[in-house]
Amino acid sequence: MKSARTDIFTKGGISRRRYRRMAQFILLAVAADVGFVCVELAYGLNPLADIVQRPFLYLYLFLGTIVVFGVFGAMIGSREDLLEEMALRDSLTGLFNARYLQMRLQEELAAAKRHRIPVSLVLFDIDHFKRVNDDHGHPVGDRMLRLIGRSILSKLREDETVARVGGEEFALLMPHTSAKNAAMGAERIREAIGQSALETENGRELAVTVSAGVACATDHATHSVEAIYRLADQALYQAKKQGRNRVVIAG
Ligand code: GH3
Ligand code: MG
Ligand code: MG
Repeated sequence: MKSARTDIFTKGGISRRRYRRMAQFILLAVAADVGFVCVELAYGLNPLADIVQRPFLYLYLFLGTIVVFGVFGAMIGSREDLLEEMALRDSLTGLFNARYLQMRLQEELAAAKRHRIPVSLVLFDIDHFKRVNDDHGHPVGDRMLRLIGRSILSKLREDETVARVGGEEFALLMPHTSAKNAAMGAERIREAIGQSALETENGRELAVTVSAGVACATDHATHSVEAIYRLADQALYQAKKQGRNRVVIAG
């Protein structure tokens, strides 16, 4: 049921086009060599006799084109990987960004609708994060964001996707997961974040908590990115209103 994109974009990283492009370019090189033989044939030359007469020249041409094309393909593929990283990742935390989450959400919602399976979205928002910046400075806030990103990542299942979707907001996409199970997963993450602490320069340990809103696509009306996002956001708002440091399920 996994789409091609899901297979390419796994929890750990982005696709590796380098090897694919290298293989494609090597095939091109072989095609170019075959083309050369065809040209010889077209001019009435016997390529086999020519090869036997000058084997080293042909070996040099054959291997040379393969190596040059292969290296060229790898360079192009690496550049494509880099551009993809830059377009779909958040530079501070290394997590995926809102654009990527939206793409994945669209795919998973379509699959959920087609196969009548649940898919959940959890929105996390750091509690009183402004205070961290105000009391300890923006760089400490940034380090805290990275720490929280790592905490969430460490709790993920293979098929889940986490993204930093706002300044201090993270979204977790949980395919094949009911609201209840998503809330349990969110609860584990909330606890892990509450127990982790950041060491500041003056040796103090700084801890924060997060609130989370959970929404699950269960009916036709929630199978749109906007609808499930709105529901999760409303639940998050409720979590803040009820005192923060908690997980609330929409509805
Ligand atoms: P609440 O519990 O209601 O969520 O309170 P809050 O203080 O976390 O919420 P608020 O939306 O008022 O503040 C969010 C803060 O997040 C404001 C901004 O300074 C901080 N922030 C946003 N992006 C970044 C960032 O990239 N780095 C750092 N250090 N801070 C950021
Ligand atoms: Mg916020
Ligand atoms: Mg906040």
